Amino acid sequence: MLNPFRVISPTTVPEAAAELDRLGDAALIYAGGAELLLLMRHGLLEPDYLVNIKQVPSLHGIHWDGRVLRIGAAVTHRELERAPLVREHAPTLGEAEGHVGNIRVRNQGTLGGNLCFADPHADPGTPLHVHDATVTVEGTRGPRQLPLDDFFVSTYETALDPSELLTEVQVPQLPAGWGWSFERIERFYRPTVNAAAAVAASDGHIAEARLAVGCVGPRALRLRELEDRIKGLRLADAQREVADAGAYLVERLEPVSDLLGAADYKIHVTSVLLARAVEHALARTGDGR
Ligand SMILES: Cc1cc2nc3c(=O)[nH]c(=O)nc-3n(C[C@H](O)[C@H](O)[C@H](O)COP(=O)(O)OP(=O)(O)OC[C@H]3O[C@@H](n4cnc5c(N)ncnc54)[C@H](O)[C@@H]3O)c2cc1C
Repeated sequence: MLNPFRVISPTTVPEAAAELDRLGDAALIYAGGAELLLLMRHGLLEPDYLVNIKQVPSLHGIHWDGRVLRIGAAVTHRELERAPLVREHAPTLGEAEGHVGNIRVRNQGTLGGNLCFADPHADPGTPLHVHDATVTVEGTRGPRQLPLDDFFVSTYETALDPSELLTEVQVPQLPAGWGWSFERIERFYRPTVNAAAAVAASDGHIAEARLAVGCVGPRALRLRELEDRIKGLRLADAQREVADAGAYLVERLEPVSDLLGAADYKIHVTSVLLARAVEHALARTGDGR
């Protein structure tokens, strides 16, 4: 049984922000409800009001502005999985979206809800990191834009102020000629570990690299030190570097043992998935000799 609550359905972002500001702790944002309704059903959250943001048209678009893919916070995983614009300009994200949960979760859950819930066992944050994504959040004092890296704070914790909502995710396209990959292993429909790579190649060597990993510790992270270490290497040497990076991965990712895997197992799987991601990304550059 759910405790009684009222649903408020604003039709603009400023209206939604004003309701959140007015109602304070008594209200929660409701998007797809995939997480929220579960928590309410278990009595872990008992809001008096749900501010339903699904009636806000500006939160539903996927637009390409010539440089950046702009995704409204209320776009569902399924829409992202199927959108030609996502496949064309942010294929790493499109690939990850196709792996989220199951078809019911993908139809129900939104990108905004996924990022704002900040469950460490989530997929979209990892590919968004290799695209250097930013997000826009908006409250009664207006919008502010921040890098995804600053938006994620820790497990179930983001940089959102209580009366702010996430409105848009901006995903720059990878530079021309770069290859990409998203790798994942899962249990109980949730990712145990995921990894994303984007690389540029020159004469069979890795010229540029972006690497990100999720689900291992409190939040998804870029691995900039490892990116630097594999630059200039051929695939086999880069993979050896990744395999030897255990100490760095532990320090950077702060692995947590949980129902989906022990900390040392997750670090081992991280190395395997990163090596695979680099290989597949390099192959997509067409210069993976
Ligand atoms: C069985 C199952 C399997 C799953 N498997 C995966 C998986 O494999 N990979 C994966 O990544 N995820 C997985 N998930 C998580 C799923 O992706 C998220 O539950 C979903 O995306 C959340 O979006 P939502 O719109 O339903 O959010 P809601 O449940 O509506 O909201 C979640 C939280 O975010 C807040 N919120 C929502 N939108 C906003 C916004 N725009 N601004 C500010 N706050 C907001 C809400 O107040 C609430 O606190 C799984 C979930 C389930 C139930």
